[in-house]
Amino acid sequence: MPDAARPPRHVLILGGTTEARRLATALVPGAAGQEPAQGAEPPLRVTTSLAGRVAAPRLPAGEVRIGGFGGPEGLARWLREHAVDALIDATHPFADTISHNAALAAATAHVPLLAVRRPGWVPEPGDDWHQVTSLDEAAAALPALGSHIFLTTGRMGLAHFAHLTDPWFLVRSVDAPEPPHPPRMEVLLDRGPFTVEGERALLRAHRIDVLVTKDSGAAATAAKLTAAREAGIPVVVVRRPPVPDGVPVAANPEEAVNWLRAVTAPPSARPVHTVPIGFPHPFH
Ligand code: NAP
Repeated sequence: MPDAARPPRHVLILGGTTEARRLATALVPGAAGQEPAQGAEPPLRVTTSLAGRVAAPRLPAGEVRIGGFGGPEGLARWLREHAVDALIDATHPFADTISHNAALAAATAHVPLLAVRRPGWVPEPGDDWHQVTSLDEAAAALPALGSHIFLTTGRMGLAHFAHLTDPWFLVRSVDAPEPPHPPRMEVLLDRGPFTVEGERALLRAHRIDVLVTKDSGAAATAAKLTAAREAGIPVVVVRRPPVPDGVPVAANPEEAVNWLRAVTAPPSARPVHTVPIGFPHPFH
């Protein structure tokens, strides 16, 4: 039975991704259209944090706060001041700074932390992938590969390509990029999901001969890889930075819900084997 006197457990989701929105929907009572099961689980307070990069973000269910915390110290303070019981880093696989801040802040504030990371893409037969570890490496690889480049790595990293004066770039981003950027470029303001048919047409219309992408692993943006494979176009794939040491990882929101159940259940109700074998225990 839930303890009526106890305030709801508070979970902070670091968001900005489809997974973070799906997780909030799964956790906020009634958000998925279902009625919460009576007396089954204590209620949760769910807050999602967004960086504030996108002008009109897709908002998740539950409470939302927007803007940076002021480094790991600011995040640790926020966790304490808002009595957060569990922290879930469901940010984009390339949002490296906030993920490291989350690891430091969670350790400082003694709050259990989980990272949600969708699996990365894997090359298929017919793919011509050139895997690199940074945007600088991607830029260095481009002159040897082509002259009409479809750049889908986001507007924030455009400075890494600004010195490339010969190739022409088609840059797709949610909001308009700001300088510095490559001198010869066209901007396409759009956000996924994208279809293979649409990506095929885009490659043809702009005579694209190289695609550049981060290994974001999202289904919503995977169609460009299929279109590139069909067209025999090389793809420069920027590999992901690693998840900070010691942080357990869930591959999807469903796994994150299981982890959260184990972490937020009252000690007496915590089953010994809630966490599946091979899945790091939240308290380790
Ligand atoms: P980042 O480089 O890892 O973080 C830079 C700073 O932005 C952090 O130090 C933090 O500021 C603030 N920040 C980042 N995510 C935040 C969040 N969810 N809530 C509050 N503050 C946040 O981050 P990024 O790569 O610019 O990504 C920013 C956001 O866009 C993330 O929420 C991410 O999920 C989303 N996103 C990123 C990408 C990508 O390719 N990087 C793609 C799609 C969506 P303070 O130090 O002041 O706390």
